Amino acid sequence: MLKNPQEYVDGILNQDRLTLARTITLIESTLPVHQEMARIIVDRLLPYTGKGFRIGITGVPGAGKSTYIESFGNMLTQMGHRVAVLAIDPSSSRSGGSILGDKTRMEKLAVNPNAFIRPSPSSGTLGGVGRKTRETMLVCEAAGYDVVIIETVGVGQSETTVASMVDFFLVLMIAGAGDELQGIKKGVLEVADTIVINKADGDNVMRTEIARKEYETALHMLMPNSPNWSPQVLTCSSLEHRGIDKIWETIQDHRKKLTDSGEMSEKRKHQALDWMSFLLDEGLRQWFYNDAKVKAAMPVLRKDVEMKRTSPTAAADTLLAFLKENAEYNK
Ligand code: GDP
Repeated sequence: MLKNPQEYVDGILNQDRLTLARTITLIESTLPVHQEMARIIVDRLLPYTGKGFRIGITGVPGAGKSTYIESFGNMLTQMGHRVAVLAIDPSSSRSGGSILGDKTRMEKLAVNPNAFIRPSPSSGTLGGVGRKTRETMLVCEAAGYDVVIIETVGVGQSETTVASMVDFFLVLMIAGAGDELQGIKKGVLEVADTIVINKADGDNVMRTEIARKEYETALHMLMPNSPNWSPQVLTCSSLEHRGIDKIWETIQDHRKKLTDSGEMSEKRKHQALDWMSFLLDEGLRQWFYNDAKVKAAMPVLRKDVEMKRTSPTAAADTLLAFLKENAEYNK
């Protein structure tokens, strides 16, 4: 560990990968001393953030996310961009494994000097996804990565958390046997800025085209979440690198439309405020549930409510009163 936060800040601004990796380790640490250090570093880096493209990508396992990101990321670095990929792994907390444990994922991108790939632990909670990943994204931007991709597996709730911290949310799909819309939750379609149907190659091309039309119809029935953007449905082959450039054009078009209309800066402001509210909620909750008196009284009062010895309202009031007492005491 480096001695003071400024060393981390300087290293990151000098685009030093090792310092970047170390800083992310601090962000992910649960030790209070590391968290405090990370907080100072992120605060100091804040003026250097915000210029990049923040792209969220979700899709069910096997949809081709890593193949897509490999193709997309390498294309972008060839254009002169610097690309960071943060992969949220919902299984890491349970199995100790990582989605990036598999060496074949993003083989070329992993050794590309203009790309930085990092698994982002989900810490088993939604808060974990949001907190660590958001701060890691900011630090990557400060380290000069102008495209930050946050990948999440489209099976949990993490995709809506990711959607709330990116500029552009891409849902990667594959054409199924007529049951296209069943596998994916409506909530995910609602936050999609673009749906991309992958594996449009070989004898899959026809099916992909059918799926594309179905999704277009499905999207028309949803209320668009932006007055300046209608979600698109595109197709690509990540394996054959076709259609990837069109997706980048779409992302740039989205950026231009939202920037010109002022929506982008509003969106980012909202996201920052939502983030603050989220952290406040989380902090209050932790404060409450970790209070010694609350901890002691909780099981007793739960039992009382169960046995109808007290009402839920009275029990909740009693518990909340402990915090008020603490607040008085600390004055
Ligand atoms: P992930 O689980 O979403 O990351 O999916 P992967 O990128 O690991 O891909 C799952 C499988 O689909 C692999 O066998 C890939 O080779 C294959 N795949 C990915 N993209 C394409 C594509 O565009 N066309 C075809 N035919 N196969 C693909």
